[in-house]
Amino acid sequence: MEQKPQNTDPWWSDRTLWIARQIFTAYPEDCTGLKFSILDCGCIYYQRVFRDGEIDPKFGIYRNASDGPCKICMQQENTWKERVIDEVVVYSSRFIIQD
Ligand SMILES: [Zn+2]
Repeated sequence: MEQKPQNTDPWWSDRTLWIARQIFTAYPEDCTGLKFSILDCGCIYYQRVFRDGEIDPKFGIYRNASDGPCKICMQQENTWKERVIDEVVVYSSRFIIQD
């Protein structure tokens, strides 16, 4: 019997890196990092992290287009923070320190 290597990364680790790459490429000057909140429904909410460490109160939502709109989030948009199962912060490696 062949043993498959065990992948212990959660399903969102690739997804969050992919989203971060898209945003950092599109807005290289805008933010130094992105804070991802993974929800139990499968949606990923993300907020920009600015140079001073402040987190943007506005958030974006990422969801697989093929899954269609999320009924849970449509009904409970105000409670999304209570449904977070994990948080990931990704920093841009292209961040340049300016005096
Ligand atoms: Zn959702």
